[in-house]
Amino acid sequence: MELHVAQALMWIERTNEKIQENKEYLSALDQAIGDGDHGINMARGFQAVIEKTSSSEYETVSDVLKDVAMTLMAKVGGASGPLYGTAFLKMSMSTKGKESVSQEDLAEAVRQALEGMKQRGKATEGEKTLIDVWTPVQELLEQSEDLQPEEIKKTAKDAMEATKNIMATKGRAAYLKERSIGHLDAGSVSSYYLFESLANVLEE
Ligand code: ADP
Ligand code: MG
Ligand code: MG
Repeated sequence: MELHVAQALMWIERTNEKIQENKEYLSALDQAIGDGDHGINMARGFQAVIEKTSSSEYETVSDVLKDVAMTLMAKVGGASGPLYGTAFLKMSMSTKGKESVSQEDLAEAVRQALEGMKQRGKATEGEKTLIDVWTPVQELLEQSEDLQPEEIKKTAKDAMEATKNIMATKGRAAYLKERSIGHLDAGSVSSYYLFESLANVLEE
């Protein structure tokens, strides 16, 4: 498993496609237990990301990730903009100076992204946020030797689906307390798309 500039760009393109295709679904999930804008926020942000990355030349994966971070921070309001912006900025910093990104590098980059998001959102695992998807994926990347991309997909999907049974204690859904149970967390679904897209690119 290795990521070069071309794979990093493909990762972002695939993620954008998934988000645009599921824009209404993501907003509907957020409508049930939040303010109904997660699909709109993410679709706007990733559209801007694609405009930026498709008109730029990159030497390193780190530079790609940095532009993604800066664009998401500038274009996405709400909780998800600063959170995903932080994630990509930390991954950019973590991979700085690397010619290509190995599984070990990726595990470390995702670890730093997760740390950054936890700090930013003052959140931890089990609060029904995207942290619940990033945490098991990070552990998988760190612990599995000879990791098959399919395992990333499965881990992210299972974790996303498991947010349904959690009571939210962070984000807008936390206002609903027990009534947040029984609904998927929208940010966990968009994070699933991100890791599903990564796995698809790694499989090619
Ligand atoms: P907003 O809630 O401000 O409208 P979005 O709808 O774009 O922002 O994003 C909501 C998602 O952000 C949630 O589904 C959740 O996954 C994530 N989220 C919200 N608050 C936090 C937090 N404090 N820490 C981590 N993730 C959070
Ligand atoms: Mg929202
Ligand atoms: Mg909002």
